[in-house]
Formats: sequence, structure tokens, C-alpha cells
Amino acid sequence: MTTLEPSRVLNESPQRLAVLGATGSIGTQTLDVVRLFPDRFDVRALTCGANVDLLTEQAREFRPEIVVAGSAPKAKTLRHRLSSLDIEVLAGEEGLRHVAARDDVDSVVAAVVGFTAGLVPVLAALRAGKRVALANKETMVVGGDLVQEAVEEGDGELLPVDSEHSAIFQCIAGESEQTVETVVLTASGGPFRTRPANTFDDVTVDEALNHPNWSMGPKITIDSATMMNKGLEVIEARWLFDLTVDEIQVLVHPQSIVHSMVAFADGAVKAQLGVPDMKVPIQYALSYPSRWPAPHERLDWSEVSRLDFEQPDTDKFPCLQLAYDALDAGGTAPAVLNAANEQAVSLFLEEEIAFVDIPRAIEDVMDQLTLNGTPTLEDLSDADEWARECVKELAATSLN
Ligand code: NDP
Ligand code: MG
Repeated sequence: MTTLEPSRVLNESPQRLAVLGATGSIGTQTLDVVRLFPDRFDVRALTCGANVDLLTEQAREFRPEIVVAGSAPKAKTLRHRLSSLDIEVLAGEEGLRHVAARDDVDSVVAAVVGFTAGLVPVLAALRAGKRVALANKETMVVGGDLVQEAVEEGDGELLPVDSEHSAIFQCIAGESEQTVETVVLTASGGPFRTRPANTFDDVTVDEALNHPNWSMGPKITIDSATMMNKGLEVIEARWLFDLTVDEIQVLVHPQSIVHSMVAFADGAVKAQLGVPDMKVPIQYALSYPSRWPAPHERLDWSEVSRLDFEQPDTDKFPCLQLAYDALDAGGTAPAVLNAANEQAVSLFLEEEIAFVDIPRAIEDVMDQLTLNGTPTLEDLSDADEWARECVKELAATSLN
């Protein structure tokens, strides 16, 4: 059974929304969608990590019941800023868990970045029977099994926000899941698709942050440059659509117009196309099973002269292969892959390690892993912590 159950039809009263990670790229675009449909949404909860300035503005505009900041000091600042409004302020993981499971919330947009702050509120929301519009792919990569269990336990609903997974979801709507033969995740190839691999030693942070087609948060932008993003999406697809490794293919498609495809048992292939704009999949995750008319940018076929496809180059982008290997190994391997990647990306963004060190560090840590095949949440957290420490140690010793 997939975690994507046929939806209950949402009733006519406004959808009561909690936006986790409201100050990020997905969070702010979610609020853009809310602004388009003021009668369909009632924002009950907003959360941020450190950006209390933006959260204060958002709280003044949307008047939620409750806001959460990433830390106690940030929550204190928020409490001070919002003292004239009747808004509760909480902090940290406990705050995220609380808003995700509140009785007065119907749908939770999971748009925090990373596993550490991402997984727990998603599990809480699903166990409480909420609709979860999932952007945080690290959650599925590390805890896909636990997320699936939480869906079953709470009768919640899990809907993809990631554009490729939304595309697959749109392609399989109305189809029997037994007839899905393979899914094809498209990848832009990132900013270094055509750059010779022998110049990768010189890649700067600014170059890696300059994505050709999508404007996103810094972590996922670096993941796109290493193609780890596609690797994480392969693992995400495995859990969302109950697929085997062999059923998930990756195809580089530099125009990012075909968002992904599904091949069926009779040889037919369905694709979902559109302008690269995350507001479309965000909205679909909230409107499903309906489509709401919206003024998002349309594809202009007079400007689309060609659609190109090529096989990914895993020698040049080893992260993609490392992700396939981790999926194959199962257990704690994806958690270790993800944590080593999160740590390596963070060190690269701080200019502590080089771009080419990202796959090197991940591979090194994966090689040291003693696999636990059936991990609990605690085991996953331990594996996550261990992998981060290994990368930090590598950065301090053998890298550079
Ligand atoms: P951003 O970095 O832009 O935003 C991340 C959000 O998480 C911010 O609101 C940030 O708060 C908050 N946050 C970070 N750390 C913590 C923490 N420890 N505790 C609480 N809140 C925290 O990321 P994106 O919006 O780009 O990505 C969000 C997720 O969606 C990622 O998992 C990404 O892979 C996925 N995704 C993103 C896409 C995109 O187009 N951006 C596309 C597909 C998936 P603050 O800024 O206030 O510190
Ligand atoms: Mg994606």
C-alpha cells in the first residue's frame, strides 16, 4: 500500500493551516498561495527558525493563534514583538510538535529544512490525522518507514510538495497502482551540468548557489549542484509511491518543464509539464483532489523550442549513486547518507570544505557504517549524530 491514500474531499469551510518553516522559500510561497485564496484558508500557526523579523510581519498579516521560533531566545524576541496581539509563542521541537497536532489545524505544510527539526512534527501531524503537505524530503529519506506507519496509525494524509513527486502523483491520479511500471524523475542537472569535472576543484559557494531554473533555500540549492537532491528524491519516491529501487529512474532534463513521468504496464507514459514554479505543487497539495483556478505563469509554447533529455553522469555526480546505494542497503544507511550530506553542505556553505569534498565525505562515512537493518527513531537519531560527527572529524583532519 502506498502512503498516498485517496483523499477525503475537503469541506467548504476554510482549511485551517499550520505552516512549519513559514519564513523559508517553500513557506513564503505557501503564504503567497494563501493570499490568492483568502476565503479558503485560515492560518492558525506559523513557525520560523531564526528569522523573527519576517515571522513578526507574517503574524501581523495572518493573525495566527500560535507561532513557534527555533530557540527559546528567538521565542522571547517574538513574544516581545507580538505583545500587543493575542498570539501564543512557543519554542523548539516541542512547539513544532504541538502546532502540528493541534485540534484546530486541518493541514500542515512541512517546510522546515533538514531531518533534525523536520521528522518529529510530521509524525505528530500524521498520527493526529492531519493532511500533511510534505516539502521536507529529508523526513522521508531518513524515516520513510516510520512516516508510513504514522499515516496508517492516524489515518492522516500525506501529499507531496516536491515538484517531481507532485508530478508523479498527478500522473497516477485515477490509475491503479499495480499498473505503474516505472517512474522517471527528471533533474535539471544543476548549474554544473556542462561544466567539465576537472574544474570542480575551483567551484565557489556563489557558483553552486546559482541554480539555472529554480530559486530555493541554500541547502537544497547545493544539493541540486551535487545532484544529491535527485538522490534524496529517489529515496523519497520509494516511500511515497511504494516502489523498488529498480522502478525509479532519473533523467536529466535541463529545461525543467517536464516535472516527472510515469510509465505504465501497457507501454503508455504520462508526464506532467509546466513552468518551474513551486506555487503550483504547493497549491495542488492543499487543493487536492480539486484544482483551483489560479493566475500562476502559463507555459508559452512559442518559447519552448525543444525538450532535451540525457542520462545522468554518476562519475561526475557521485552523490546520485551514493543515494541509490543507501536505498539499496536500507536500515540506517539513508539516515547516514542524509546526515553526512547535511553536515558536508553546511561546512561547504561556511567555506570550511571544498565542493568536491561533499561526495568524498559522504562516501567515507558510508564506508564506515555498521548497518542497523530495523532502526527505531532513536537509532535513526543516533546514526544521524554519528554521521555528522564523522564528517566534522574528516573536515578537521583529512579533507582540504
Ligand atoms: P529554506 O532554507 O528556504 O527554509 C527553511 C525553513 O526552515 C525556514 O523557515 C527556517 O527558518 C526553518 N528552519 C531551519 N532550521 C530550523 C530549525 N532547526 N527549527 C525550526 N525551523 C527551522 O528551505 P526551503 O524552503 O528551500 O526548503 C524547505 C524544505 O523543502 C527542504 O527540506 C527542501 O529540501 C524542500 N524542498 C524545497 C524546494 C524549494 O523549491 N525550495 C523544492 C522541493 C523541496 P529561518 O529561516 O527563520 O531560520
Ligand atoms: Mg524536487
